[in-house]
Amino acid sequence: MLKTKLAVLIGCLSLGAAFNVSAAGFEAVTLGSKGGIQDGNLTAFMFKSELDSHYVMLDAGSVVNGLIVAEEKGAFDDIDVPSESPYTKEGYLLKEKIKGYMISHAHLDHVAGMVISSPDDSKKPIYGLASTNEGLMNNYFNWSAWPNFGNEGNGFKISQYTYTDLPQYEWQPVADTSMQVMAMPLSHSGGQSTAFLLKDKQGDVFVYFGDTGPDAVEKSDALNKVWSTLTPFVKQGQLKGMVIEVSFTNETPDKALFGHLTPNWLVKELSVLESMVGKGSLKDLDVVVSHIKYSLKKGDDPQVVIKRQLDAINTLGVNFLFPEQGDALTF
Ligand SMILES: [Zn+2]
Repeated sequence: MLKTKLAVLIGCLSLGAAFNVSAAGFEAVTLGSKGGIQDGNLTAFMFKSELDSHYVMLDAGSVVNGLIVAEEKGAFDDIDVPSESPYTKEGYLLKEKIKGYMISHAHLDHVAGMVISSPDDSKKPIYGLASTNEGLMNNYFNWSAWPNFGNEGNGFKISQYTYTDLPQYEWQPVADTSMQVMAMPLSHSGGQSTAFLLKDKQGDVFVYFGDTGPDAVEKSDALNKVWSTLTPFVKQGQLKGMVIEVSFTNETPDKALFGHLTPNWLVKELSVLESMVGKGSLKDLDVVVSHIKYSLKKGDDPQVVIKRQLDAINTLGVNFLFPEQGDALTF
């Protein structure tokens, strides 16, 4: 009798565990969706494992304004601010829920929100390649552009942010979360940018690309290395999605890309990954298209053109997504 009960109990437990396995994944909230020029809506995603209650920021072009818009849209309706907390919802999210920044490169449109909210932020690590962290300490947190909120660099160090240099192509823990991260360098008009590969406790991964040009235009093999690193995860069904940029429409000539992608180039690059894994291997993969510029011109919105151009050549069968600021996504 006891044995039977135990067996049933164990059966239920393992069924529950199996259910959790299939249900887990990742969540993102779009705090900024544009690649320029709209201040208050620049590239930034809050990101977490569904097995976790803490987020990291993937780039930080817009932070507080993104939190305000996302809260208005209901992206955080399932998060309650504890009654003893002195903070608003936005304050609680920034100070208590976001546990670090992953910065792909130090261009202003990827860091402005972090810099401007720093006086009221909590202590956090900034994860990046050494070149990115150097850019932050030399150009922003230097007592000239802004006080030095970092723990390195010019003059008195407020040490609110701890620069955490990531080695290339090595898994590193993400403090206060259950995730690990691997930094993979990208070529961005000759400068260095970063793709972050994030892994949850179950071994599922998500890849976030900072700005990048295509290998052929950048005369680089950086993307090729990223694709080959992703290959085993695609084979095992563990790549849950990606964020990658398309800054310009197909009408932009290669010499005017300045380290960015077009629809044609994105599909060409994704095809390299597909060819490494096998035909049809990227079918239904969620691909979030980021970094489309806000347009001041009358006529076709660049996002509409880019979506049309991607759909026209989507032989891979991937699922292109175009989130607006404040939109929540699950992968
Ligand atoms: Zn850039």
